[in-house]
Amino acid sequence: MDSISIIVPCYNEEEALPLFYKEVTKVLQSMEDCRYELLLVNDGSRDGTLAIMKALAAADEHVRYLSLSRNFGKEAAMYAGFCNADGDYTAVMDADLQDPPSLLPEMLRILRSGDYDSVATRRVDRRGEPPVRSFFARAFYRIINRISDADVVDGARDFRLMTRSMVEAVVSMSEYNRFSKGIFGWVGFRTCWLPFENAERVAGSSKWSFWGLLRYAVDGIINFSQTPLTLVSWSGLLMTLLSFLCLIFIVVRRLVFGDPVAGWASLICVIIFIGGLQLLFLGIIGSYISKIYLETKGRPHFIIADTNKDDAVRIH
Ligand code: UDP
Ligand code: MG
Repeated sequence: MDSISIIVPCYNEEEALPLFYKEVTKVLQSMEDCRYELLLVNDGSRDGTLAIMKALAAADEHVRYLSLSRNFGKEAAMYAGFCNADGDYTAVMDADLQDPPSLLPEMLRILRSGDYDSVATRRVDRRGEPPVRSFFARAFYRIINRISDADVVDGARDFRLMTRSMVEAVVSMSEYNRFSKGIFGWVGFRTCWLPFENAERVAGSSKWSFWGLLRYAVDGIINFSQTPLTLVSWSGLLMTLLSFLCLIFIVVRRLVFGDPVAGWASLICVIIFIGGLQLLFLGIIGSYISKIYLETKGRPHFIIADTNKDDAVRIH
């Protein structure tokens, strides 16, 4: 009989986790031809999340918990899950029931048919989301798909069911700056997309602020695209050409008309403009360097402080 591992990253989810557990267990138990394990990852929660996980694990042998030594972020929590998932199929799900467990049987059926290696889900609408956030999210997806080779689908969730070989590919991408939506696309494999309607979080509150999301978007672009660097080089070249033409123009004018000194204001404007561009471009280059810096340090992605899984990968 094949088995399925469900990874659930949890950060301060004491309100949502029991509801999620009830819901997902109901669905998984109805899938009688498949064994399952729930891998609850506590991402350094400050509330009672860990206590709830321990209670669930004591009462239900399907539950494993991995408790990280501090808050490492959802990407690291998911990675800890991937490194410790044993199932033939592995899924990631949010603890807030925004990823409907009712899709699981259908997802498993699709993978078993052998036509696909992964079933991913996509929200078809963004109901219940602030309009500004939707606007920027759409713009982000348009940009990243144009300039990177990680094909990221608009509305894609991290919720997807994958075969063992795809999970191994994801685990092998051990980069420190992780952007899962890009990684899933980059590793390839045959992916089937299931659309579903957006649901609002059952309890608790979203961990994302507007600035947090913006940083996430910029990181995603920098992690999966060299286009900003190319743009910097091209605009540098363009500016040089332009200034060279200006130079010729000024020299000729001086020789023909004998121009007196003038144009102080325009000169300052040009200097400030170019100075600003240089700082901006240095900033863009700096972002790439800071990524390189973090990668070369080779720090672990996560540190597990407490778990009920024997043979768990504790530091990686
Ligand atoms: N999460 C996490 N670590 C973090 C932030 C979030 O493990 O630092 C988890 C969170 O508990 C939830 C999932 O990631 O299960 C998605 O978070 P959230 O619902 O806040 O994101 P949204 O659905 O608003 O995009
Ligand atoms: Mg959510």
